[in-house]
Amino acid sequence: MVRSKCPRCEGTSFELAEATPKGSRFKLYFVQCGSCGTVVSSEEWANTEALFEEPLAILKRLERSVGQLAEQVMQLRDEIRRGT
Ligand SMILES: [Zn+2]
Repeated sequence: MVRSKCPRCEGTSFELAEATPKGSRFKLYFVQCGSCGTVVSSEEWANTEALFEEPLAILKRLERSVGQLAEQVMQLRDEIRRGT
């Protein structure tokens, strides 16, 4: 297999570096040359699963609240029916 080479210094070792570029709201991982630091690739830091964790928790809370509200509406409807 051909070894990957840095386009600048032809170094063959690479490392991951965590970075938050100016203007970016998210952390990124840079794949950079282990010798001169030239960035050859970048990856998003957060994985998709982590991004959906909070919205999913909110959805579950909402689902529960809607269920409770529906129950209360049914009770109210029954009480109104009994009252008339
Ligand atoms: Zn290099």
